[in-house]
Amino acid sequence: VRTKPHLNIGTMGHVDHGKTTLTAAITKVLAERDPAANRYVAFEGIDRAPEEAARGITITIAHVEYETPAGHYAHVDMPGHADYVKNMITGAAQVDGAILVVSAQDGSMPQTREHVLLAQRVGVPYLVVALNKSDLADDPELLDLVELEVRELLSQYGFPGDEVPVVRVSALKALEGDPRWVASVVELLDAVDTYVPIPPRELGEPFLMPIENVLSISGRGTVVTGKVERGELRAGEPVEVVGLGPTLASVATGLETFGKVLESAQAGDNAAVLLRGVKRDQVERGQVLAAPGSVRPHTRFQARMYALTAAEGGRHTPFEAHYRPQFYFHTTDVSGGLDLGDRDLVMPGDTLDTVTVHLGKPVALEVGLGFAVREGNRTVAAGTVTAVLD
Ligand code: GDP
Repeated sequence: VRTKPHLNIGTMGHVDHGKTTLTAAITKVLAERDPAANRYVAFEGIDRAPEEAARGITITIAHVEYETPAGHYAHVDMPGHADYVKNMITGAAQVDGAILVVSAQDGSMPQTREHVLLAQRVGVPYLVVALNKSDLADDPELLDLVELEVRELLSQYGFPGDEVPVVRVSALKALEGDPRWVASVVELLDAVDTYVPIPPRELGEPFLMPIENVLSISGRGTVVTGKVERGELRAGEPVEVVGLGPTLASVATGLETFGKVLESAQAGDNAAVLLRGVKRDQVERGQVLAAPGSVRPHTRFQARMYALTAAEGGRHTPFEAHYRPQFYFHTTDVSGGLDLGDRDLVMPGDTLDTVTVHLGKPVALEVGLGFAVREGNRTVAAGTVTAVLD
């Protein structure tokens, strides 16, 4: 039964600015307001929840889920360690909006800028700013200044800096139950409800779901989870698993979302799909589940690419034709090479209208797909597929 629209919301922001505390505050505030609607699923990852997996196919696709009067939200809290940027690329591509947490005390920091840039590059459509730790700022003018600075940063990266809601909150004080700051978190949630629209659901398109996790549920079979990117899949319909290896044909014998059985999984849904006749080790994260014949694996494609500057977290030095970084698509990454055409070098800050990429493994690709290019822990470029070759 579809009662409320479903949205995926991420949190981003510099380490220690309060993402974790804010997530805890949001869940606490909502649980106190509406306990029945807010039975939280809060895990740090699939590895932490084997007993959940054993109980059914209620997978921890998102870390926290909650309901407000306007919608049902899955809240993806991204950790603040070295893998953050990678997680952001694979996770942020799947959010409908994000809360950018900025400490009112420290203001915009390098990761704040990096995350705003990435949000733009991977197409996070809406940002709402939580100006956190506002309890520590005695001087309202200081808060005004930080707000101004954040708005400018947003405008610089293509977000409507003047329109984006910037809400002064204290996650910590709200968590401690201080009524003034509890109200600030409610205000933030209202801003998300109002500002982030219900995503357009591309129901008419062929079904596509990038696979995030694969589980084997004893007595039931192999289950894959992910967010449905487009289209609709009904229980009993045929599907294909595409990319990384040979294409596999299967049938979706069962569908669930957040523990509820679904007759169909639709664009925007976080879904768990039970696959007939597929073994656990035949499927992996990074493949996609697709309507038969709708997408193909490719190892060569053309792209438009932007090389991030050092200030944006990219390289300090140019790269050359024999460069072999990692390419990140949907939920996977593979190594690959670049054919730069008539160029010898790519400088940080350059935009390349046409490069040819060849991948070490076939990936389910199509025109318009965004990807990130990384070396080590550094994101060096962002691109969009403009043509598939072979
Ligand atoms: P994260 O790295 O972004 O997840 O940050 P945390 O949520 O772990 O918070 C970092 C530190 O800031 C912790 O010591 C929190 O207690 C503190 N903190 C978080 N939110 C607030 C706040 O609103 N006010 C104050 N004073 N401290 C906060």
